[in-house]
Amino acid sequence: MDIIYRSTRKSTGGLKASEAIVQGISTDGGLFVPDRFPKLETSIKDLSKMDYKGVAYEVMKLFLTDFTEEELKYCIEHAYDDKFDTGEIAPLSYVDNAYYLELFHGKTIAFKDMALSILPYLMTTAAKKNQIKEKIVILTATSGDTGKAALAGFADVEGCGIVVFYPKGGVSRVQERQMVTQKGANVKVVGITGNFDDAQTGVKQIFADRELEAQMKERGYRFSSANSINIGRLIPQVAYYVFAYTRLVKEGRIAEGEKINFTVPTGNFGNILAGYYAKQIGIPVGKLICASNENKVLFDFFETGIYDRNREFILTSSPSMDILISSNLERLIYEIAGEDADACAELMKSLSENGKYEITPAMKEKCRDFIGGYASEEECAKRIHEVYANTGYVMDTHTAVASTVYKQYVEKTKDVTPTVIVSTASPFKFTRSVMEALEEKKEDADDFELIDRLSAMTGMTVPNAVEEIRNAEVLHDTVCDKEQMKDEVIKFLK
Ligand SMILES: *Cc1c(COP(=O)(O)O)cnc(C)c1O
Repeated sequence: MDIIYRSTRKSTGGLKASEAIVQGISTDGGLFVPDRFPKLETSIKDLSKMDYKGVAYEVMKLFLTDFTEEELKYCIEHAYDDKFDTGEIAPLSYVDNAYYLELFHGKTIAFKDMALSILPYLMTTAAKKNQIKEKIVILTATSGDTGKAALAGFADVEGCGIVVFYPKGGVSRVQERQMVTQKGANVKVVGITGNFDDAQTGVKQIFADRELEAQMKERGYRFSSANSINIGRLIPQVAYYVFAYTRLVKEGRIAEGEKINFTVPTGNFGNILAGYYAKQIGIPVGKLICASNENKVLFDFFETGIYDRNREFILTSSPSMDILISSNLERLIYEIAGEDADACAELMKSLSENGKYEITPAMKEKCRDFIGGYASEEECAKRIHEVYANTGYVMDTHTAVASTVYKQYVEKTKDVTPTVIVSTASPFKFTRSVMEALEEKKEDADDFELIDRLSAMTGMTVPNAVEEIRNAEVLHDTVCDKEQMKDEVIKFLK
């Protein structure tokens, strides 16, 4: 029987996986969730003999049940190929008593590549399966990394167009250059004078605009999403949690069945939610440690049961986590509410009207797999410095948030469960902050000079993704107010 995807805000109806991928977000504003959690059909032992693609297939086939074996394998084959700079796709490094799962070996050197390398294939396959006639226009809000990864995936893909909105001034220099130099006849990149939450809210409003939808349909377009609200983003992410576990078994680091913890640098709650899904399908996961930067709305939530976005938005050196409205938390809320869509809808209404909500004690009890933590800017810089000094391993600013929070967790709990720290970006993507941490001083050199210095200092080669943009021409310079996002989309589709 097919897995059906229902809205977190409506108890009736539902779509097959391919339909949910094409649609992106439910028309009532809710997110699609599977009507049940399948269980892994292959033993851990057999999975540990497979490569990344093999594991990805075993995981994704459980959730994307209306794709044929041939379709799914075609998507996986084309996604996880030599776009990645290592055949392992997601290698583990053992550093200072933890395993760093490096998810930054793809085209844009951040973990978003893990899902966005495959989403365009899933999307076009799904469109074909459902005889979609219109051109699919992907609307994406980005805190820095999704934008480029989605652009790279969807540029010049037949039957698709893509518009990316990013917070002008709220991303790193490498992130911005990666986006504004993007080539392709079907792409548009727009900076907005606002933060990520503004961009995400603006995009969600466009999705909810029924009048615009009708107007676009007449002109032969339909919108979809490449954000982690799309299950085509979420499901491929479950694969690397399973993969990490099976590697540890394969290398004899843990026994089959032994529990491990994951520490995840978190923003929109998509990555860590995939870890929760991995647990639901049968991976022995102990704690999911949710690491926030100074925008610690999730830490406060796990502590108090109150989600409250009414606070100052802080720009940090881990910009991809500068988020106060973590969209994917809605999927967890739905689960812990006992799959009660009405209760979930009520809380989300409160979030949009008052900027906050409180869960019941019973729901809070069901969050016990999650431990919240946060790290300050100084602590992260110190951690980057200390780990490099002690081990020679260089981590980026986002991974440093997770590494710091994990260290605090171990000091506090003495929990020695083997732990995987999810490493989400290459240090070359956030070189200024990384170099400032390593050299313990403010840097005034140009970003590309710092990149060369990081490489000289550590012996790491500058990734292709960075070389590509060093001298590339700026092709996108549109900046608009958050109120004008819809107009920019209409203009692009003229
Ligand atoms: C997107 C991103 C995150 C946060 O992931 P979520 O799924 O939004 O929680 C963390 N680190 C990096 C480098 C990212 O690009």
